[in-house]
Amino acid sequence: MAKLEADVIVIGGGASGITAAVAAAEKDASVIVIEKGKTTGGAANMGMGLFAVESKYQKAQLVDFTKEDAYNFLMEFTHHNTNSRLVRRYIEQSGETIDWLEAIGVQFLGSFKYFEGSKQTWHIVKTAGSNLPAERAASNMFKALTDRARELEVDILFETKALKIVTEDGHVTGVEIEHPDGSTEIAESSAVIVASGGFGDNPDMIKKIIGLEWGKNLFSFRIPGIKGEGLNMMWDSGAGENTPVLEQTYTIPGVTDVFKTVSETMRQPILMVNLDGKRFINEEKLNNPVYTGNAIRRQKLQTGFTIIDESVLDYYRKKGLDYITVHHNVKTVDHWEKEVSDILSGKGSEAAEEGSLGDLSAGLLAKDFFYAADSIEELCEKTGIDEKGLKETIAQYNEFVAEGDQDFFKHQKYMHPMTGGRVYAAQHYPCGYGTLGGVNVTDCMEVLDGGGDKIPGLYSCGTDACGIFGDTYCFYLPGNTMGFAVNSGRIAGYEAVDYIDSDDFVE
Ligand SMILES: Cc1cc2nc3c(=O)[nH]c(=O)nc-3n(C[C@H](O)[C@H](O)[C@H](O)COP(=O)(O)OP(=O)(O)OC[C@H]3O[C@@H](n4cnc5c(N)ncnc54)[C@H](O)[C@@H]3O)c2cc1C
Repeated sequence: MAKLEADVIVIGGGASGITAAVAAAEKDASVIVIEKGKTTGGAANMGMGLFAVESKYQKAQLVDFTKEDAYNFLMEFTHHNTNSRLVRRYIEQSGETIDWLEAIGVQFLGSFKYFEGSKQTWHIVKTAGSNLPAERAASNMFKALTDRARELEVDILFETKALKIVTEDGHVTGVEIEHPDGSTEIAESSAVIVASGGFGDNPDMIKKIIGLEWGKNLFSFRIPGIKGEGLNMMWDSGAGENTPVLEQTYTIPGVTDVFKTVSETMRQPILMVNLDGKRFINEEKLNNPVYTGNAIRRQKLQTGFTIIDESVLDYYRKKGLDYITVHHNVKTVDHWEKEVSDILSGKGSEAAEEGSLGDLSAGLLAKDFFYAADSIEELCEKTGIDEKGLKETIAQYNEFVAEGDQDFFKHQKYMHPMTGGRVYAAQHYPCGYGTLGGVNVTDCMEVLDGGGDKIPGLYSCGTDACGIFGDTYCFYLPGNTMGFAVNSGRIAGYEAVDYIDSDDFVE
């Protein structure tokens, strides 16, 4: 068998890896992608779109939000606790990246907000034959990038696992890989780009580093194969550790993405309490998944409940829902009774629409996290919420409907009185799309060692290197993790080739 060697080797063919491969190959480098799965696109195949600012879509849609605004917004959001040069470069490039993607055949529906109050930065990929935002739309983008990679003769090795980064005298010389038949080999290269997507599917690492336990107080998306291998390889090769965080949101396990009317209704700005029966958030924020996830995580057993009764449901029956999301587009409670009956009779993820994110809920039973009762007493018995606390909270909440929310200043238009009838609770837990960060990089995506010096030939992009959000993901600029993945992949691909061509190159 011929020796495997290339100018650039990319570990992981997900969002950032396949983009890095195309970028490097466009600069005439020979490129090998080591992908342990059977497809490219990684976790991003589940997503819908990416961040950009000053794109042609935003200009056409008259979006008044500039690169300068985006830069200042993110720097304020993170209290400047981030890599300012990388943030600046990413934002600067993001609009042009949309043109670059279009040139290889990706189509977009336009730019969107994720929730009211967020910025219109989410560029949702168009699915052939449809003009509606659709779950998993971004997979079309990764198909186009993969076609482009093939056209540029990138060698994509599927079901091949990277095991170790090989170094000599402190610089990179290759990657040890495992072939599908179990045999191992060193693939040689002077530049290696690690794009393995973090550790969202590694409960042990999540417990140790993030402090949450999957199935107990965390019900995150676990995209198979995202195990932290790239990060461990880089740390073993001398990369300095920065503390990764969770791209944390919140979920009703087994319900969210499966029973969409119940899920969307129980995420309206209705009453939310903790196990003591006390409110802990201005429920207006429930449309910001990250802020709500943070608030829930601070409660006893890291859980919270939204509560609704027939009187509030009646309001929604007449007026429609307060919050309507782009991705689920549920406007009414028309399917409430049917879904509640399905949940209570024990239906699971098989009730999800075909091809929807609900597939990821396999094994979780909605009825373990959604409760119906004929009285507050019965509801408290089922959920474990303190009965005295909840009764006091509801009585006070109903007073606030008339006189204004003295707890958290929720807008009056969202203060719907709870006056009786059957009552329902949904139990929410922290969730997450995956992890963010783990190694420090320069604005050229060069990996730094513990002392802050570059490791010659080692690059990282995507989630492994995504430490730009500080301790909380910035959902006010939607599309940001995929945006960072694609843009940092582009940067890493170009820079790795420049390194090989430069005087710094160590052979
Ligand atoms: C349900 C869902 C919806 C999302 N929607 C959006 C959205 O609309 N917008 C947005 O901005 N973000 C979204 N995200 C987040 C986005 O998908 C990620 O930010 C993005 O995929 C990160 O790209 P990546 O290249 O770092 O990792 P990934 O895309 O996950 O790719 C990592 C790749 O590395 C491979 N790999 C891992 N270890 C090895 C190894 N040892 N050897 C070889 N290969 C290896 C994996 O198989 C995988 O293919 C969503 C995530 C989820 C889960």
